[in-house]
Amino acid sequence: MSRKIRELDKITVEAVVDPLAGFCGGVNRAIDLVEKALENGERLAVKGELIHNRLEMDRLYRLGLVPVDDPSETGGRSVLVRTHGEESDFFKRADELGIRCLDATCPKVMKSQKVICRAHEVGKQIIIVGHINHPEVIALQGHCDSKAIVVDDAGSEEPVDSSLPTLLIAQTTVVPETFLKWQQKLKDVVDDLEIFDSRCSFVTRRQKELREFAVEHPAVIFVGGRHSSNSNLLYNICREVNPNSIFIEDESELDLEWLKKFDRVGVSGSASTPMWLLEKVVEAIRSFR
Ligand code: SF4
Repeated sequence: MSRKIRELDKITVEAVVDPLAGFCGGVNRAIDLVEKALENGERLAVKGELIHNRLEMDRLYRLGLVPVDDPSETGGRSVLVRTHGEESDFFKRADELGIRCLDATCPKVMKSQKVICRAHEVGKQIIIVGHINHPEVIALQGHCDSKAIVVDDAGSEEPVDSSLPTLLIAQTTVVPETFLKWQQKLKDVVDDLEIFDSRCSFVTRRQKELREFAVEHPAVIFVGGRHSSNSNLLYNICREVNPNSIFIEDESELDLEWLKKFDRVGVSGSASTPMWLLEKVVEAIRSFR
């Protein structure tokens, strides 16, 4: 006990929250919809995780949101459609089951769905740059009868037919380099190529801002969900520009020995890390001093 007190006494670090961190517009809108619906007494379920942050999800579950795997399990509740969107069949099934859908699909994702649907109707080959198992990509496939070819950094699992009119589109969170690589590759071989840049400006802007924040601070504590691809991507950016960066899910993972090495640390997070969680980490660090 006395050793612990001596150790704590040595901590002088100042912790600063990244003022530009916090939810993106799409997540803010979705959480607002959930809170308002629950406040108004609506019984609400969600298929899958609304956002990839366990602590924020726990907070919403405590408010009354119920997780389900399928619309048939909602038990008479309305169902929330996540920011990633859903395939059109999902809405048809919910309608048949008499379930109200509260649609929190991000407007940027909705735009991609419309563009894909239109291209599919006119018989274009559709190529999506993204991760084959990402919920947004799975939902996009549902707007073109699962006919899209999904490609990533490693290449394409299916051959691309360069003789066909083609739409090239991206998962909103894909890294710019991968999308650019596919643009260049297809421009050389496909005559009739439509490129729709569906990448989210919030994600690209956030990468730049975070890079600047990480350089400005002697060390960075990045707070996010370990299974969130956006969190992992942003954390890697921090590491790249500032090797004194660590990843934690919450304040319980703070390492006192590590903190003692610095006089100032920046605390930041991903598009799915709530601001209240960053503040909690800063409060915990202040309480050590
Ligand atoms: S990251 Fe961009 S596309 Fe994704 S939910 Fe947020 S605002 Fe929408």
